[in-house]
Amino acid sequence: MQNDVESRIPLFSTSGSLHDWLAANQQPKFRAQQIGQWLYQNRATGFDSMTNLPLAIRQQLAESFDFWTTEIAKHLKSNDGTEKLLVKLDDNSHVECVLLRDGHRRTICVSSQVGCAMGCVFCASGLDGVKRNLDSHEIVEQMIRLQHCLEPQQRLSHIVMMGMGEPLANVDNVLAALDVATAADGLGISPRRVTISTVGLPAAIEKLAGYGKPYNLAVSLHAPNDLLRNQLVPVNDKIGIQAIIDAADRYFEISGRRLTFEYVLLGGVNDSTDCAMELSELLRNKSALINVIPYNPVPGLPWVSPSEKSIANFGDILRRNKINVKFRVRKGSDIAAACGQLRRQQVTEISASQSIGQTQ
Ligand code: SAH
Repeated sequence: MQNDVESRIPLFSTSGSLHDWLAANQQPKFRAQQIGQWLYQNRATGFDSMTNLPLAIRQQLAESFDFWTTEIAKHLKSNDGTEKLLVKLDDNSHVECVLLRDGHRRTICVSSQVGCAMGCVFCASGLDGVKRNLDSHEIVEQMIRLQHCLEPQQRLSHIVMMGMGEPLANVDNVLAALDVATAADGLGISPRRVTISTVGLPAAIEKLAGYGKPYNLAVSLHAPNDLLRNQLVPVNDKIGIQAIIDAADRYFEISGRRLTFEYVLLGGVNDSTDCAMELSELLRNKSALINVIPYNPVPGLPWVSPSEKSIANFGDILRRNKINVKFRVRKGSDIAAACGQLRRQQVTEISASQSIGQTQ
């Protein structure tokens, strides 16, 4: 039964249910287009505002669909223009997402899972393991919620899948959500402005390559050898750096997109001259960018940020070895914008002002 409360459909469902519903209700084809326009261009927040739809249809839509399945539990704004949302899902769990303003860029950082199973020892998102994958409509809703934070004349320009969770452990839902983000009648963001960040799951990287959209791939490496990486990124034990590099190389061959390797610099752990030399060797002659991210302290964890001197030394060695290197700029530090931190605060009820943060 369409109007049964039990069968209400998430409006941002990616399975074609809106089209099916319109067909079942004998609506002309252009209705889907009109509704899409309201959702993705006009930033509607309810069916009432869809004034070019007959009132009866608006009412029926409201009976059949949930406009939102999420709520905004917290909305934090940083002095540097960064905004962070703590989003409450319909099972009462929480995820985070961020809007970053940088020149003309309006980048959003979106979560793919509640928690994370990868267990990277320095990351706040995975401290309590993974609860579940996000459904594709929950990923799209984060994007739309962040779009609504923009000034009316501004548009979202970039998406990074660098929020909570491992996107390639939920690859089907992530790809379905990104289809909406990149569709001309969706958010209209070029796939070349979308980056999927992964701990490095070779089978899923292959799948992504086969999907055929020129998304950017960022691999979180964090160590130049398996001995160290096994300690920092426990899932590496079963995978190994070489298998990840091979999959990333194939991704580059197929997509033509320059690879990014992320390297969180932990003071006294992976920031030595030897590590920088070994990393240079590993990435020599690759069309790759290495994105060095000085560790952003997570309350309760034993790791420390690297010293200015070791950051500079690490960068110098990479550059001398002709590796393209970029340092990640801190943003949103006053609103705990690093992934997983705000949700953790919610759980542990630490006040936002006590926390230090960094965005992706
Ligand atoms: N699971 C994906 C997305 C994670 S978030 C991945 O592993 O890539 C994106 C990046 O932020 C990853 O490189 C992650 O290792 C890094 N990160 C996590 N916690 C951090 C912290 N406290 N300080 C700096 N970077 C962090």
